Amino acid sequence: MSRSAHPAGPRHADVLPEGHYSAPADDLNALDPKVWAHTVGRDADGVVTVGGIAVTQLAEEYGTPAYILDEADFRDRARAWRTAFGNDADVFYAGKAFLSRAVVRWLHEEGLNLDVCSGGELVTALSAGMPAERIAFHGNNKSPEEIERAVRAGVGRIVLDSFQEIVRVAHIAQSLGTRQRVQIRITVGVEAHTHEFIATAHEDQKFGIPLAGGQAAEAVRRALQLDGLEVIGIHSHIGSQIFDMSGFEVAAHRVVGLLRDIRDEHGVELPEIDLGGGLGIAYTSDDDPREPHEIAKALTEIVTRECEGARLRTPRISVEPGRAIVGPTAFTLYEVGTVKPLDGLRTYVSVDGGMSDNIRTALYDAEYSVALASRTSDAEPMLVRVVGKHCESGDIVVKDAFLPGDLAPGDLIAVPATGAYCRSMASNYNHVLRPPVVAVRDGAARVIVRRETEDDLLRLDVG
Ligand SMILES: *Cc1c(COP(=O)(O)O)cnc(C)c1O
Repeated sequence: MSRSAHPAGPRHADVLPEGHYSAPADDLNALDPKVWAHTVGRDADGVVTVGGIAVTQLAEEYGTPAYILDEADFRDRARAWRTAFGNDADVFYAGKAFLSRAVVRWLHEEGLNLDVCSGGELVTALSAGMPAERIAFHGNNKSPEEIERAVRAGVGRIVLDSFQEIVRVAHIAQSLGTRQRVQIRITVGVEAHTHEFIATAHEDQKFGIPLAGGQAAEAVRRALQLDGLEVIGIHSHIGSQIFDMSGFEVAAHRVVGLLRDIRDEHGVELPEIDLGGGLGIAYTSDDDPREPHEIAKALTEIVTRECEGARLRTPRISVEPGRAIVGPTAFTLYEVGTVKPLDGLRTYVSVDGGMSDNIRTALYDAEYSVALASRTSDAEPMLVRVVGKHCESGDIVVKDAFLPGDLAPGDLIAVPATGAYCRSMASNYNHVLRPPVVAVRDGAARVIVRRETEDDLLRLDVG
């Protein structure tokens, strides 16, 4: 398509408006393996396929929008984390990234443990057969009912987040005649995000008990005195979408410092340390995440070195990747509804979903990439903003990206790396129905979370 045929749509890098984007890729039809699930490719007709199935077929069978999840890729990544950390460490998948019963079964089969942070996540995990001792229960305000349920179920650990919760969990465990294994979540004054981290003395946030001012030490002091609790370790989680390991280095240094102080004061060496999750993935070709084996090596070395310095036995390490396992394994498949070029600015491409299936762009200013999926095209690249169908101007899925200039209603486009924090944060805004999650593997597709229906909406609305 020539420029004159679309006079309003800017096409070339030299006439582009301001924004956060790189120049268009040389070949818009290419699918960068960094941002796409392992089995994604194009067939002979140029249609994107995953697990051997064309997206046109998936759209026909399951409708759009839909989250399409590459099961083989999920299992590969879960296994890579498990293998990288080996038998002397534990990998807890952070269920809040995306949880369903199928996912729980895959994790169980691949030897991972599971983090939950609500009664709803706990019941999902238990109902799919995850052994309770492999579940960790998180959250800054677990209700007494949730705590009781977790203790009764026999979860492997509860991560304590406040002084009040220390007493609450101890009391509930004792009244049930048991001792609950717990970790104490502390904040070490490190906030990490992507390429930078900030190390401070204090941390202004709702999670954890501050190391600063001796609060964490006091929390351990109290917990060790309570019969209902078995304190097994210290927990620290420093951020999200992190590429740089130096934040973990500072965190490990400070956590091990606390373990040393605990040993000196109480004569106990706590056997476990959890360094949390937050490892980054590639949302666009500009991101360069680390491999699990590099992360495992780096974290193990940091903790070992710090413990040698403090003359402590190296504790058992656990980590909690969520995004890094599920994020890259899924993409969202949308159908284009309208293509609206704005003079001298960009072209707005409206899809049949939006902020209800991906809130991350509106919430975090997240960056995504996008590709034309139902065909290839040799048209000139056009700068687009992919927007949803919601009554909200901030309803943006992909802020700035390039798609072929002949994009038209009815085309399917796919946004990669939407496996984490998209379905799990999905809403019913504007009474839009939440999309299904379709798992694809070896030429077979199945729905693991079905699409919401208008009946679902009306059933909740009891009039
Ligand atoms: C959110 C969270 C995780 C997972 O974070 P990712 O960025 O998905 O890896 C792990 N642990 C805790 C305590 C969290 O709050």
